[in-house]
Amino acid sequence: SSYEENLRQRRELLSPGLISYYANPLYIVRGSRQWLWDHTGRKYLDMFGGICTVSVGHCHPKVNSALAAQSEQLWHTTSIYMSPAPQAYAKKLTAKLPPELSVCYFTNSGSEANDLAVLMARLYTRRWEVVTLRNGYHGASPFLMGATALSTWRYATPTGFGFVNAAHPDPYRGEWGGAACRDSDAQPGRSCDCQQSGQCSAASKYVAQLEDTLRFSCPKAGPAAFLAESIQGVGGIVQFPRGYLSKAFSAVRAAGGLCISDEVQTGFGRLGSHYWGFEAHGVEPDIVTMAKSIGNGFPLAAVVTSPEVARTLAEALHFNTFGGNPLACAVGTAVLDVIDEEKLQENCQRVGQRLLSGLQRLRQSNQLIGDVRGKGLMVGVELVADRASRAPLEAPRMARLFEATREAGVLVGKGGFYGNVLRLQPPMCVTEADADATVEAIGEAIKAAN
Ligand code: PMP
Repeated sequence: SSYEENLRQRRELLSPGLISYYANPLYIVRGSRQWLWDHTGRKYLDMFGGICTVSVGHCHPKVNSALAAQSEQLWHTTSIYMSPAPQAYAKKLTAKLPPELSVCYFTNSGSEANDLAVLMARLYTRRWEVVTLRNGYHGASPFLMGATALSTWRYATPTGFGFVNAAHPDPYRGEWGGAACRDSDAQPGRSCDCQQSGQCSAASKYVAQLEDTLRFSCPKAGPAAFLAESIQGVGGIVQFPRGYLSKAFSAVRAAGGLCISDEVQTGFGRLGSHYWGFEAHGVEPDIVTMAKSIGNGFPLAAVVTSPEVARTLAEALHFNTFGGNPLACAVGTAVLDVIDEEKLQENCQRVGQRLLSGLQRLRQSNQLIGDVRGKGLMVGVELVADRASRAPLEAPRMARLFEATREAGVLVGKGGFYGNVLRLQPPMCVTEADADATVEAIGEAIKAAN
């Protein structure tokens, strides 16, 4: 049926809360690896991968056949019976993590994983307050809206279910930003004082603020946990000043809390240099949550922790009907294999560097690009109306820019509190030629925003 008919039905039958990046939503009918096709047969380079989710590529044949084979064997039993898939998958997944993180609880979405991680931390510590960072995003459950430290997402729980937000350690927009360095290998130091002293003073200031939050905004007993992304995704690809996260973990542990790393966007090799985002900070979390790339688009997520923390759930009634579903485990296993077999982490490193340097060159000749940042294939381009004041590019100009990227045949994502950050988090199989095409498309699209 026609585009118009489908659009009418979407508006009538589906929630008005659905978001579209374009005035008329793109109508996608087919995908293969990093490519998508619309109803007219037009091909697009997918540089957003269904929000950082299609990791090994759309309709990857190995993942498809794993799913098909499992679907002939067994679909669903729940975890009240034993079946082969979950153990085999857990073994493979935990092999990718530090040895202490050896126990998995499978869920279906990142929100469920973070909900459960917070529950575990609360049961383990017998405490309540969870500290999260402003501008973070951890999920859309009513519970997590408090953790998701964006005011735009907090409409339902203004007081936040025991979540306390600490200052946002953003080297570009943050209170102590400007000169601060980043945790990225690709962008050492800038003008930050850490180049001379080995210590980033911006990181220290943010940690002092976090300590303040731990001391004054948590009950005397202290926090149950600190929950943070290792690079903020929805918040606009925000990397923290060098050393921030490791100092933050130390401060939280000194206050008796657990550290939860939300690896929903940063996991599975996307950052190139490391398989997990926390590794790039030299920290070991007590609990790791993961989703998105883990299933290449199939609903799958996980909480991985130590046996000691995992034991808390033996005392509580917790259940997830679909978690650890054989189909999801088969897909997850195939995804892990493909990432290794096709050396996709290495590809993220190489193509990511090409993308970053291309965008940095574009920034030199383009006043609307305020900042280019990221690691591997998690890259952000922050657009500004004025570089000196860093005023975000106005929404109507952003909208024109978005339409122009689509017209150029490149699909990009959006993020940041002001919606002025282009997010590039494509399937991990994109090539250097795709990176160059993306830089060119963005360069052209920016002209539409002038
Ligand atoms: N954590 C992070 C870092 C995310 O980006 C998201 C989703 N954007 C979530 C958690 C929630 O995941 P889901 O949408 O699968 O519930």
